[in-house]
Amino acid sequence: MIAYIARSKMQHIIFYQKLLIIGLCILASEYMMSISENIHIKNKIIPEIIINEARTALSHYPELIDTSIEFKLKPSLSKSFMKAQPKFSSFFKPKGKREYVILISQTFDIDGMRLPISDIPKNVLIGWLGHELGHIMDYRNRSNFNLIWFGIRYSFSQNYIREAERIADTYAVTHHMEKYILATKRFILDNGSLPQIYKDRIKRLYLSPDEILLLVKELQNN
Ligand SMILES: [Zn+2]
Repeated sequence: MIAYIARSKMQHIIFYQKLLIIGLCILASEYMMSISENIHIKNKIIPEIIINEARTALSHYPELIDTSIEFKLKPSLSKSFMKAQPKFSSFFKPKGKREYVILISQTFDIDGMRLPISDIPKNVLIGWLGHELGHIMDYRNRSNFNLIWFGIRYSFSQNYIREAERIADTYAVTHHMEKYILATKRFILDNGSLPQIYKDRIKRLYLSPDEILLLVKELQNN
């Protein structure tokens, strides 16, 4: 009887040991997957799925080589496809050491139109990333206090949103990304599947394709 109880206890211990090993294997494989999905290059963390597009966009901004930027995929973002912002954890560091994150929705999901990131044309994605890097160029020049004030005004004033978006577009154009920025605009404005209300918002707040071409001309003349 005693031998039977001892054997049964032993079987229980072996069973739990096996369960523990399986659990640890699952955790380890998930950890390895999360590492392999992100590519770490100097001061940048980039999901593998957009590595080529992010590299192309970054190649237009040599000034950002020492700036820490994480490109982070999110299941969804409210109202936008991408969003550039300072990392809260670095907010109180001197502005030269500030770190940034570009949040990217895994699905372009605007008012009922859903498109996975892998289905978005490459040049459109590069243009979008170039615009977000334009925001980071703008943030880099701002003090912490100025950034807080920027966030407040951006939340409450359409005029201020327009100003900030135009600054980001202008940075992208002055960094010779006009081809990509135009691809992004046309993807939105000429897209029959997108709701008019979204297109109107884009027209109202961002530089139009004509304004971008004008800016390119002005830069060429200077
Ligand atoms: Zn923007």
